[in-house]
Amino acid sequence: MTWSSPPTHGPLGDALAQLAATIEHLGYDDGMHQMLATARREMQVSVPLRRDDGSVFVYSGYRVQHNFSRGPAKGGLRFAANVDLDEVRALAMWMTWKCALVDVPYGGAKGGIAIEPRDHSERELERVTRRYTSEIAPIIGPEVDIPAPDIGTNEQTMAWMMDTYSALLGHTVQGVVTGKPVSLGGSRGRTTATSRGVAHIALMAMAAHGMRRDGTSAAVQGFGKVGRDAARFLADAGVTVRAVSDVDGAVYAHDGLDIARLGAHAERTGSVVGFPGAEAMDTTGLLTLEVDVLVPAAVEGVLTADNASHVQARMVIEGANGPTTQEADAILMERDVVVVPDILANAGGVIVSYFEWVQAHQAYQWSEREVNDRLEERLTTAWNDVVEYAGTHTLTYRQAATALAVRRVTQAHRQRGLYP
Ligand code: NAD
Repeated sequence: MTWSSPPTHGPLGDALAQLAATIEHLGYDDGMHQMLATARREMQVSVPLRRDDGSVFVYSGYRVQHNFSRGPAKGGLRFAANVDLDEVRALAMWMTWKCALVDVPYGGAKGGIAIEPRDHSERELERVTRRYTSEIAPIIGPEVDIPAPDIGTNEQTMAWMMDTYSALLGHTVQGVVTGKPVSLGGSRGRTTATSRGVAHIALMAMAAHGMRRDGTSAAVQGFGKVGRDAARFLADAGVTVRAVSDVDGAVYAHDGLDIARLGAHAERTGSVVGFPGAEAMDTTGLLTLEVDVLVPAAVEGVLTADNASHVQARMVIEGANGPTTQEADAILMERDVVVVPDILANAGGVIVSYFEWVQAHQAYQWSEREVNDRLEERLTTAWNDVVEYAGTHTLTYRQAATALAVRRVTQAHRQRGLYP
């Protein structure tokens, strides 16, 4: 991206539009705007893979470090066929705001490989992960940039990354990634942290807007690491989860899906499709279903100018990063639909990643109760900060959350000064 011709659409267009509006609200100058709009460091690598049949295919990989003002860069690694540099840039920028908003001492980063993981064997995914890790090894590390799981990656991916990085350095470096298996220095509670956070924020938002748990219905898009347990936690709290989708299809039950059984079905078959006792439905229809709360927890850009005016939910809780385009955001605001932004709603993952990194430094493991209590405490603080700022300045939750985050990053940047 060059500063003179930034994209106006797609995830990066959305992220830059949010930043531009925030800069205007905060009254910052053009120099600061440029500092915050551009990544400090970007790396693009070729990732050759020797497939199980002996053939070779070369994938494109990326690591973008958007900001380091508040500490090492932090952000997930995504395996998805349509990953490109601009998407990774947007996700890295959102990570900077997220870390600042929940006050963990990190900047923001993101990585990706343009690969469809479902087309590859476990052994191929291991080789791709290890080769990518060795390519980006010069710019990651516990004090530099700490990857974590995102779409298409998991704790096994993180174990391979840690092992590869450790082999290159000649000693075990647990703090180089988070989201590792607990047996390798992962944190208790990390696998469910993002979902626990989504549900915790959703329940606080519902309470703040006078919605009783037992009278509230919800639909969740995405049934992966975030969506599945978010649906489960919401159902456990008394919310009627009527519909859930994944990339293959959607299922609906008016009186509520049995999420534990649906989870077991998805585990067994690889999809929510065909869940006994539920009706099949169109995946796009899920976003405009008659429910009180909509939780997009799959991919970015799903709420658009085309469907935002048909959303029937009173509240959108952004489990995914960037699910609402700038056009949809304006329509939802106009229609008084409450949108709780990604940088707040899904911040539980990075909070417990931070706890994992702290535990690696302490060489000590916390109990799951301790992790969950501290997670909820931090999210509650961030929620209260956002509600207060939004109320004081008459802003949406997204505008308030972004303003708080950008202000914190700017403060750190100003205190450190510009070198040379
Ligand atoms: P995942 O790969 O575990 O799951 C993604 C899910 O979305 C799968 O069920 C997939 O089938 C589904 N999906 C993909 N495209 C879809 C579509 N068009 N319609 C419906 N479903 C679709 O990924 P994840 O880790 O759950 O991440 C989901 C979102 O949450 C992403 O935006 C990610 O950046 C964000 N996020 C993840 C974490 C984390 O800790 N994993 C933390 C913060 C934010």
